[in-house]
Amino acid sequence: MQAHDGMFIDGRWRPAAGGGVIEVVDPADEQVIATVPAGTAADVDAAVAAARAAFPRWAATPPAGRAARVGALSDVLAARAEDVAATVTAELGAPLTFSRKVHAAVPVAVSASYAEIGASYPYEEKAGTATVLHEPVGVVGAITPWNYPLHQIVAKAAPALAAGCTVVLKPAENTPLVARIFAEAVDAAGFPPGVLNVVTGYGAEAGRALVEHPGTDFLSFTGSTAVGRTVAAAAGAAVKPVALELGGKSANVILPGADLARAVSAGVANVMANSGQTCTAWTRMLVHRAAYDQALTLATTALAKYAPGDPRDPATRLGPVVSAAQRERVRGYIERGTAEGAVLLAGGAGAPEGRERGYFVQPTVFADVTPEMTIAQEEIFGPVLAIMPYEDEDDALRIANGTVYGLAGAVWAADEAKAAAFARRMETGTVVVNGGKFDPLAPFGGHKQSGIGRELGVAGLAEFLHTKSLQF
Ligand code: NAD
Repeated sequence: MQAHDGMFIDGRWRPAAGGGVIEVVDPADEQVIATVPAGTAADVDAAVAAARAAFPRWAATPPAGRAARVGALSDVLAARAEDVAATVTAELGAPLTFSRKVHAAVPVAVSASYAEIGASYPYEEKAGTATVLHEPVGVVGAITPWNYPLHQIVAKAAPALAAGCTVVLKPAENTPLVARIFAEAVDAAGFPPGVLNVVTGYGAEAGRALVEHPGTDFLSFTGSTAVGRTVAAAAGAAVKPVALELGGKSANVILPGADLARAVSAGVANVMANSGQTCTAWTRMLVHRAAYDQALTLATTALAKYAPGDPRDPATRLGPVVSAAQRERVRGYIERGTAEGAVLLAGGAGAPEGRERGYFVQPTVFADVTPEMTIAQEEIFGPVLAIMPYEDEDDALRIANGTVYGLAGAVWAADEAKAAAFARRMETGTVVVNGGKFDPLAPFGGHKQSGIGRELGVAGLAEFLHTKSLQF
């Protein structure tokens, strides 16, 4: 058990203002593996002051100089990939293989992309006779969740730093250890003191203090829609720009003529990855009535690969969920699904056999789910898939678009053009077409209640700039 007592403020680890601690628990065996300080408003205050003091010099640093530091950060994260993977597995419970491939590798790629985008971005352009400047927006308050803990930090901090902003980060309380690695990496990459500051703490105290602090110029939040609403309200009251990456209930639409076996197996894999704790998870599988029974059989077969297991075993594909609270939430939704009349095809609300210790949930598939059921409308954030039949393409579109969310989705058809034509009609921020790959250069974000603003790629950097026109 490691007891950490510092916050990363103004380029050094300094003791927290209060005495509260957060216990970090390994979800696979429920053991406390570390403690970190539970930050208070006083810590947030010190961090914002450091970020404010560092801002003028950092903003005036030429883009190439800032980008070089972001490139160095990517190199440090690459060198520490194994450490990152082991840490995320320990505090989140993600299978080690997945932690290496996704939790450790994606932040390396995203930070590398901002070393390039940050250096080449057109910070100055002409509009008629005027010169338009795209300037860093100032001090960014960043709040992140636990499900892709390093990715979500990097998706905010790398573009913000490349753009010339300074940052105060409040990472999720369940996964503060990888945030500490991030702070160490920023330090090792040679950023000036105060450019990035990390305050660990609970949302209701440290998060709230950051959201309400008058010393930030921009709030960037990733998390639940419920908390996002309070962040947006506070930003609105202060007339402060805000970016929100929130929840989802994404549809995986399998059109007639698609490769059914591939679409179903990719769909199951997508929901089981990271124990279903993925904001973009395709949690609703929509299948044409004619292919429906076959899809149910294929889904049950595909599910067999996801036996819950020790996340450190390289063969494990499904680890625990992050916490006891999350496990109870997911089990509650499974019970609700059954109560509302969905057919339990596999899994269930009880603990998986032999996995009573640790926050394990059975991989679960519901059939005959109808669009108005709770499990078809609300984000579950666990390894639970809802399969729904549809009658024709318009019906599929109506179901796909029929939630308050619009973060992601997938569509499969006989050919790419047909799939893309359907994708254009979906009210969502990202659609994977016929099993395409996730490209971190593409803008990422939500329609409707899935969020405001975009992360990743050029659009993700532009979020952290505001414009000034010089009229000549
Ligand atoms: P959460 O909203 O409970 O917490 C997210 C962060 O907000 C944490 O750091 C938390 O401490 C902080 N927080 C909580 N209450 C706060 C308050 N009152 N004021 C300020 N900060 C506060 O979400 P979570 O359970 O950690 O994460 C899961 C959610 O995140 C899911 O809904 C998921 O869909 C969403 N998510 C969205 C994206 C995206 O990019 N759209 C990505 C990942 C996760």
